[in-house]
Amino acid sequence: MQTATQIKALLAERGLSPRHALGQNFLIDQNLIRRLVDASGVGPGDTVLEIGPGTGALTEALLARSARVVACELDPGLATLLEERLPTLSLPGSFDLVRGDCLAGARTLNPEILSKLGPAAGPGGRFALVANLPYAAGTPLLLALLMDHPACTVMAVTVQREVADRLSARPGSKAYGTLGIVAQAVAEIERIAVLPPECFWPRPDVTSAMVLLRRRPVPLTADAPALARFCQRLFAARRKQLGSTLGRRDDWPLGIRPTQRPEELSVPQFVALCAVAGMKPGSD
Ligand code: SAM
Repeated sequence: MQTATQIKALLAERGLSPRHALGQNFLIDQNLIRRLVDASGVGPGDTVLEIGPGTGALTEALLARSARVVACELDPGLATLLEERLPTLSLPGSFDLVRGDCLAGARTLNPEILSKLGPAAGPGGRFALVANLPYAAGTPLLLALLMDHPACTVMAVTVQREVADRLSARPGSKAYGTLGIVAQAVAEIERIAVLPPECFWPRPDVTSAMVLLRRRPVPLTADAPALARFCQRLFAARRKQLGSTLGRRDDWPLGIRPTQRPEELSVPQFVALCAVAGMKPGSD
C-alpha cells in the first residue's frame, strides 16, 4: 500500500522525481489497485507480467497474493528502488525484474521478458498481464501480446480512456478501428472502472480506464496479424466503399455489400472478408 506521501518520500530519498516522458503517474487509490488485481483473478503461484512497476504499489498487491511476478521497468532509478525495497517487505510471492524497455521494436516484446517468463510464455503455458501501463507503450504492447503471445490469457490493465474506448468500440463509432477489431476477435473485453486524474500522483492530463481482456478459448481468427494488416488497409481508406478498395468480386461473405464502408462491418464480417480478400504476409 502506497499513499502519495509515501511515493513522494520514496522518490525523494533517492533524489528521484516523476518523469513525464516515461508516463510516470503513480496510482494512489488502493481500492482501484485491489479491483485490478481481483479482476485479473491472479492467485498463488500464477505467473504475472507487470510492465512499469514504478515504485511497486501494484507489485506489492500481486506479491501479497503469492504470485510469481516478472516485471519490466525502463527507469533505472525506479528499478534500483524496487530491487532494494521489495525484498525488505517479506511478501510471499516472487519478484524478477527486467531493466529496460518492454518493447524491442514497434510491436515486439523485449526477449528478456520472454526468457524470464520461461515455460509460462511457451506452448501450453499461461501468464497474465497486470499493469498500470505507460501511455506510450500501451497500444503496441497490447497488440504484441494479443497477436503473438497466446499464453497471455488475461490482461488487466490501466490505459488512457481513449485506448479503452478503441478496444471495445462498436461498428459505426469514431473509435472503431484496427485495435478494437483485432482485440475483439481474440478476446472478450470488459471495462472495470473509469479513473479521473485525481486517482494518480502526479495528476495526468487525461482520464484513464481499467480494462479486462480475457482471451477467447476459440478466437474468431486464426491469423490475427493478417487481420490487423487487412484492417489497416481498409481503414486507410475509411471513407471509401469496400468495392472501391477491394475491387470487383462476387464472393462477398456474410451479407457484406460492396457499397458499404469499412466502419460499418462487424468484427465477424471483417474476419470473413479478410479470409477471402486479405493479403498474404509481406505483400503490403
Ligand atoms: N505501476 C506503477 C503504478 O501503478 O503506480 C507505475 C505506473 S506508471 C503509469 C508507468 C511506469 O512505466 C513508470 O514506472 C515508467 O517508468 C515505466 N515505463 C515507461 N515506459 C516504459 C517502457 N517502455 N518499458 C517499461 N517500463 C516503462
